[in-house]
Amino acid sequence: MTLAGQLAARIRATGPMTLAEFMAEALLHPTLGYYTTGDPLGAAGDFTTAPEISQMFGEMLGLCLAQTWLDQGAPDTVTLAELGPGRGTLMADILRATRGVPGFHDAISVHLVEASPAFRAAQATRLSDYDPSWHDSVDDLPDSPLLLVANEFLDALPIRQFARVGDGWAETLVTVTDGGLAFARGEPVPVPELDHHDVADGTIVERCPALVPVIGAVAARVATGGTAIFVDYGHWRAQGDTVQAVRAHAPVDPLDAPGTADLTAHVDFEAIARAAAPAAVTPMIRQGVLLERLGITARAQALARGLDGAERDALIAAHRRLVHPAEMGDLFKAIALHPPGTPPPPGFDASA
Ligand code: SAH
Repeated sequence: MTLAGQLAARIRATGPMTLAEFMAEALLHPTLGYYTTGDPLGAAGDFTTAPEISQMFGEMLGLCLAQTWLDQGAPDTVTLAELGPGRGTLMADILRATRGVPGFHDAISVHLVEASPAFRAAQATRLSDYDPSWHDSVDDLPDSPLLLVANEFLDALPIRQFARVGDGWAETLVTVTDGGLAFARGEPVPVPELDHHDVADGTIVERCPALVPVIGAVAARVATGGTAIFVDYGHWRAQGDTVQAVRAHAPVDPLDAPGTADLTAHVDFEAIARAAAPAAVTPMIRQGVLLERLGITARAQALARGLDGAERDALIAAHRRLVHPAEMGDLFKAIALHPPGTPPPPGFDASA
């Protein structure tokens, strides 16, 4: 039976489900989920990501992490971790870019938090020289100082969605009609976690319940050393319906054939900042600004010198795609956690 059929049967038996329950099934159902069943990345897949666009993305983040490690006195044991590493491209680029940093590779052990068996297999191949460990949850990461990256991970965490109605909040639900799965709206109820959104009646806001424990577990480790960099698309105090389904690089109805399309929601960076204690948190900055500050243009020029023709054009296009405001540069944002009393990592410091 299709996942849509299974979910319809479940809704008929037990009633409508929240969007978070629906997203969790669509993405991570053990045999029919989107991430559990395939490799959706890259030009031939459903969507592409910054590390798949260019090695420069991982190189810049790698140098940022290694510089942070040096600035913090080069501790001799440190966890280098990634959440949702996909094909392992970002981590591979981080490791390659930091090979020349004396002592760094001796100090790190590589840890990957990944739900998808297919992606775990791809990561094992890609990172076989580095003997990575895999974890189901951020809670399982070692307690040592932590250098962590997560690109387009938080946007895959299931969200709940509500519309403001009077003093309450009416939740978006997934129900079933004769025509199949359909959206419905629950009765307005109090949701104190949303009351800082001072919005007009009818405005939609989203909440990612899984984000708080993820950020909390990372923050507890980073507070004692290291840094954590989150890059994703989103805003500060996001509002509106941001749930998006994408199949073969085109938007589709989120309820159409769940498990066969990517399903994401914009990340509310304010929610990251609110969950960041006991770590300190940087301001949210645009991806383009971060990469420029970390030196991506000089790196692109250096790489371009060795190329010509179509390869050179592809490099220039990739640089533009990552940093230009009309491409990913403004839409994607970054934020970093760091130990209280230490400077923000390179690129996140406004005076840098
Ligand atoms: N960071 C990669 C892949 C982004 S796609 C890149 O930028 O190319 C999202 C990744 O998060 C995939 O690897 C997916 O399998 C993983 N993922 C999604 N939800 C997860 C969860 N709840 N726990 C662990 N991994 C998850």
